[in-house]
Amino acid sequence: MLIKFYGVRGSIASPGADTVRYGGNTSCVSVEAEDGSLVVFDAGTGIRELGKTLGEQASEREINLLFSHYHWDHIQGFPFFLPAYQKDQVINLLAAHLDDVNVYSILTQMTDPHFPVPSDKLEAKITLLSSDKNGLLIGSNNIYTKRINHPGGGSAYILENDQGSMAYITDNELFPPNTPETSYEEWVAFVQNVDFLIHDAMYLDEELKNTHGWGHSLISQTLQLAVDAKVPNLVLFHHDPARTDEQLDMIKQKSRDWMKQKHPNCQVYVAKEGDEYQLNKGSVTLKNV
Ligand SMILES: [Zn+2]
Ligand SMILES: [Zn+2]
Repeated sequence: MLIKFYGVRGSIASPGADTVRYGGNTSCVSVEAEDGSLVVFDAGTGIRELGKTLGEQASEREINLLFSHYHWDHIQGFPFFLPAYQKDQVINLLAAHLDDVNVYSILTQMTDPHFPVPSDKLEAKITLLSSDKNGLLIGSNNIYTKRINHPGGGSAYILENDQGSMAYITDNELFPPNTPETSYEEWVAFVQNVDFLIHDAMYLDEELKNTHGWGHSLISQTLQLAVDAKVPNLVLFHHDPARTDEQLDMIKQKSRDWMKQKHPNCQVYVAKEGDEYQLNKGSVTLKNV
């Protein structure tokens, strides 16, 4: 399967000279399976770029758009997603563990005075997917879900097919100050057999005093999760908008040095816009594009 990062930033898009290498777009990751099925996680500003490609292709395949939750940095790209305006496209939406009614908040953001084009101008066929406690099946992909620890709630996802498995877990505070929706032990169990883990790693240890309870994890906590769950590939994701390229380079180096001591079989990556990872029979290759 091919996993591609279109947006890696948290909270707000942050373009500029200091973020040009890792990218300033907010959350969006696509997964293409061998059977041609397509799953897209979140519709942050990064989804605009994905939409350009999908909009030019024949639309035989459906677009399955899975939301972690509806905070702006995860929905704001949708009004700029070209396939949504094309009548031969089918877009299936899912936000597990959240009320189906609220999934339309991605459409209701397209109202006056916030947006000039009303959502009834969208020509794609938009449907809702549903999941139960066993998850759901999309093409050849088994999808499993888990409640995230984040204000307002939301969902983490695991996608698994015959090439391996990947987890998309963002806006998740591993150790929140209140009672968690999902305990640390449950997270370890959830990602234990996953080949490729994408997890929120928004803050540095010294930022915890100001950010505890905001629904995000420390980089150090996310690294520890990869160790405890014996994950072979970890991608640090949902970077703070103020984090510069230089700081992310340092975070990558320090995290790799730390991991070499604790769990040498784990490869640590820092999510970067445009990066593509190929996952074949459990082994991961980063395609530098
Ligand atoms: Zn976010
Ligand atoms: Zn959020």
